[in-house]
Amino acid sequence: MNILILGSGGREHTFAWKIAQSDKCNNLFVAPGNSGTAEVATNVNISETDFDAIKELVLKEAISLVVVGPEAPLVKGVHDYFLNDDALKNVSVIGPQKVAAELEGSKEFAKEFMDRHNIPTAAYQSFTKDNVEAGYTFLESLKPPYVLKADGLAAGKGVVILNDLDEAKAELKSMLVDAKFGDASTKVVIEEFLDGIELSCFVLTDGKNYKILPTAKDYKRIGEGDTGLNTGGMGAVSPVPFATPEFLNKIEERVVKPTINGFAKDKLPYVGFVFIGLIKVENDDPKVIEYNVRMGDPETEVVFPRLKNDLVEVLDAMANQTLDKINIEIDERAATTIMVVSGGYPEAYEKGKEITGIENITESIPFHAGAQLKDGKIVTSGGRVISITSYGETYQEAIKKSYQSIEKLHFDKMNYRKDIGFDL
Ligand code: AMP
Repeated sequence: MNILILGSGGREHTFAWKIAQSDKCNNLFVAPGNSGTAEVATNVNISETDFDAIKELVLKEAISLVVVGPEAPLVKGVHDYFLNDDALKNVSVIGPQKVAAELEGSKEFAKEFMDRHNIPTAAYQSFTKDNVEAGYTFLESLKPPYVLKADGLAAGKGVVILNDLDEAKAELKSMLVDAKFGDASTKVVIEEFLDGIELSCFVLTDGKNYKILPTAKDYKRIGEGDTGLNTGGMGAVSPVPFATPEFLNKIEERVVKPTINGFAKDKLPYVGFVFIGLIKVENDDPKVIEYNVRMGDPETEVVFPRLKNDLVEVLDAMANQTLDKINIEIDERAATTIMVVSGGYPEAYEKGKEITGIENITESIPFHAGAQLKDGKIVTSGGRVISITSYGETYQEAIKKSYQSIEKLHFDKMNYRKDIGFDL
């Protein structure tokens, strides 16, 4: 079959790398793609949210399966667009329909879903500019730190955690009254702070059946020791050493099953990946921090290299509601990835720097992210540039390999965290 992947990051390069290994895939396209996807697929320079251009490509290339990488096309309704078009309705789309993508598109929607289905999460209330005063009163009733979340998508920046009550009130006002995050903060969810260690759980679903993929832990902050600004993710490890079988069982029983059953009960059409951000609190209990309606990046770069199955078979089963027939097989080895970024990221940084030495990396898999081909050279085109994934008998061995591989890579002002896995 001919397959199209939407997106241009390390996640999409990993999808492409894995799909290209399947003999069930004839022609593979990525829109818009990057220099890494160009090695295993045909890049097409159209935006992942330009649905009309995507339609034209799908018809021209007889594509029968579309895998959606990032959240933006899902929240904008790419799956619905296909279903509502006679020429496209037989094309399978991996990713939930718009109404279900609200689990990521609206924090309040996600909290209400969890309440309805008894899924453990932090206590919360939500506010608009018409009841800011009530928001202040709610903040006063909580103990610090205070967690404020813009309801809508805010490019990963919409969660603010503050220790000081006055600062929290000022932040609430800035979000609601001064529209700090534009439309994304017309509503704000304030919630109880949860203390514990975070991990991510990934679930595949065809809307009826589900399969759980390996857990992963990512490193969000730019600085060593988890300090400094938040980023899209600076590295990841899979499996998560502290996720014991007992803890994983709690996640499946208390979170995964009620989530998948909740989709059916609420009539949320969901074929795709569910990314559940979790925190392990006291008594080793899991609580949900957030849902994302797609795979994580850089978690994909450690989860998919551990999947032994033919990914096209798995995706096809998701699209055809036969996921129950698939036996997911996982590589026992650990996988780690370390993200190499442009100096300055996540604040201002320069682009267009030539990247050299990738071809010398043989011990690891370099997944390209913000990297593009220009005049026959690979140059930086984003903050997160390349993610170096390695396998190991232990995660420590895998991390060591990734750091050795990074030594072979060069571009002006390159930066990366030297302590991935330090806390495990
Ligand atoms: P989110 O965008 O919802 O994933 O939140 C971003 C980050 O904020 C999470 O990865 C957590 O580290 C932190 N966070 C969110 N909600 C809470 C909470 N209720 N308690 C503690 N930390 C939180």
